[in-house]
Amino acid sequence: MTFRATVLTLFPEMFPGPLGVSLAGKALAAGTWALETHDIRAHGIGAHRAVDDTPAGGGAGMVMRADVLAASIDATLAPNDDRPRLLMSPRGVPLTQARVRSLAQGPGALIVCGRFEGVDQRVIEARGLEEVSLGDYVLSGGEIAAMALIDACVRLLPGVMGAADSATDESFERGLLEYPHYTRPQDWEGRAIPDILTSGHHGKIAAWRRAEAERLTKERRPDLWAKRPKRAPQG
Ligand code: SAH
Repeated sequence: MTFRATVLTLFPEMFPGPLGVSLAGKALAAGTWALETHDIRAHGIGAHRAVDDTPAGGGAGMVMRADVLAASIDATLAPNDDRPRLLMSPRGVPLTQARVRSLAQGPGALIVCGRFEGVDQRVIEARGLEEVSLGDYVLSGGEIAAMALIDACVRLLPGVMGAADSATDESFERGLLEYPHYTRPQDWEGRAIPDILTSGHHGKIAAWRRAEAERLTKERRPDLWAKRPKRAPQG
């Protein structure tokens, strides 16, 4: 089953963009995943293909029209398409590695990229769009958020990353941030690689990494630390 990302955007020329290079780009060329972009403006109103209008109730900015966006969704999705329908939105549920993993195990997603002040609430409800946020800050459009979400999913698809287990140790996978990395040279600007890492003692190395991951998580992300999965007592 190929992971299929269908992106609705006013700026289809932004894609594949960064998704066309490196890991994601190679996987795209190899057919491990597929990308379809649809220009929302193709469903715009009138000679000027208008896609937005002034906000009901007044105020600054413009709002994407429900009729235009719905026409774009309806023209894109086959009736039997049961992929998740996501709307990139700062009001959405913050994206997590757990959600990325579950998306990557599925058939892909329809991803709607907002622009302006956002989209008319009625189309969110009528087309069952699930709002997903990249984080607590505001981007100028949903495209970069969509790319981030797709990139995070694609690197988890079978065969995309080199070593089969290179994802299992990573930040967030065990409810912890990752331990620090080092590579050659052994001494650099008077800083040595921690001795334990060059000791060849795999048990001690694993214990050091675990302790560092725990220390960093406690220090930097008390929120993650508080809800990390508890391990069974050892021994
Ligand atoms: N007025 C809105 C922000 C609109 S930004 C508000 O205050 O909530 C325009 C578009 O950029 C949004 O519709 C959304 O698609 C996208 N966007 C902005 N910030 C985002 C974020 N943190 N996560 C996901 N998408 C975001």
